[in-house]
Amino acid sequence: MMIAEIFQREHFDDALAIEAFRTDSNARKFAARRFFMLAGVLLYAIYAYLDYLVAGPFAQQFIMVRLLVVVPLMLAIATSFSAGWFQGRENYAFLAYMTVMLASVLYMCLLIGEPVADFYPFGMVVIVFSMSMLLLPTLRLTITMSFTVIVAQGIVIAFSQMGREAAYTSVYFVCMCCIVLIVGMYFLENTERKQYIYKLELEKTVETLRESEQRAINLYHEAKQAERAKSEFLAVVSHELRTPMNAIIGFSEIISTEMMGEVQPPQYREYATHINKSGTQLLNIINDILDISRAEMDKITFEAKEFDLEATLDSAITSCSANAKESEIFVQRIGGQSGEFILCGDEARILQALINIIGNAIKFSPQGGTVTVEQSFTPRGELSLAIKDEGIGISPEDIEHIKQPFQQAESAFVRNNGGLGLGLAICGIVADAHDGELQVESELGEGTTVSLILPPDCVVMQGKAA
Ligand code: ADP
Repeated sequence: MMIAEIFQREHFDDALAIEAFRTDSNARKFAARRFFMLAGVLLYAIYAYLDYLVAGPFAQQFIMVRLLVVVPLMLAIATSFSAGWFQGRENYAFLAYMTVMLASVLYMCLLIGEPVADFYPFGMVVIVFSMSMLLLPTLRLTITMSFTVIVAQGIVIAFSQMGREAAYTSVYFVCMCCIVLIVGMYFLENTERKQYIYKLELEKTVETLRESEQRAINLYHEAKQAERAKSEFLAVVSHELRTPMNAIIGFSEIISTEMMGEVQPPQYREYATHINKSGTQLLNIINDILDISRAEMDKITFEAKEFDLEATLDSAITSCSANAKESEIFVQRIGGQSGEFILCGDEARILQALINIIGNAIKFSPQGGTVTVEQSFTPRGELSLAIKDEGIGISPEDIEHIKQPFQQAESAFVRNNGGLGLGLAICGIVADAHDGELQVESELGEGTTVSLILPPDCVVMQGKAA
């Protein structure tokens, strides 16, 4: 059952897998086998001295057989094995090697007389051991060779002048050696086969992983290309839309302000005001899309210069004042205003970021609420511009992604406040460009604080200003 199992498990039902296992195992054992085969020849040659000691009158004949016939034959097999002539048919080489050794011992056993005949067949034991130790064969070969050795020994005992007791002892030793070898070889081959199966599975897994990795890389490149194409498309479209939008805004302003004379009937003036307001809104969206597309293509430019933060903050608040007034929201300022430092960065971009953040705070605040713009320094010397509101707030899951382009929080949909989800993404780009950070802290229903953090490098103390 055990032996049948070893020849039939998992991949080993498959002839190709068996062949692959043999080739692999033979290749691994080649160097050891070559070494042991040559060492076996040397050992066998040295044993000629034993012949000289024990064989008495047969010594010359024995030494001739050993050195002139057996050793050259074994050497021929060992060297042709080393030269690779037996490649793929290693077991034939071992069989030939063993047969030559066995035949010589048989021949000598049959020739030799008392008292040497009693212990000479113990040479068989050496053969049984060398079979496994020197050649490291397979289980099948070990069984075949053990059987052959036992049969050969029987023949020797039958025809030699060996005593009965010595014969029993000799059979006992050879059989024990064969059993030990077969059991040992069973476990050895079993382990080797298991290892081979694991190796095959590991190779298959590695191959699958490599394929998945390659597929992921390809998909990544395709996605990148698609993203680039999308950004380029958006950039071109936005750019093309800006020119007509500017014309619409300009002419609607001329009409709504009656720059060239009274407009009759008065509803026309009202319509022109609506056109102007909607046009400006649309132009802002187009500009935001253009900025995001340029940033995604790494084409957005930032120009750093020194400027007065106070004036920029005032102008951001003023820009949002119309919306604040409409919703009766009070915008207050805390901190700063001492004029002790100026800021170094891209003024227009920082203004744009502040307008976006303050605009959001107003947009998401309830009627009559308060928005606080707080300017302070962190313990690490960074400048913090925090805009705090008491509005609808953002859930923790939404905070994760609202800084990505075109992303909005669930609560914003519920309130239907408009917007494309680009404002915070642009603020993040502005913060990154200044090596700063955009922080969002919020609690649903409690309010939100969005802070633009600028590094100490952006702050120039008044005394040190150029
Ligand atoms: P939008 O144009 O939609 O306002 P933003 O990128 O500026 O785009 O904001 C993304 C989303 O983040 C908003 O749609 C809203 O869901 C959420 N958000 C931003 N600021 C606030 C805020 N102060 N209070 C509540 N939600 C906010």
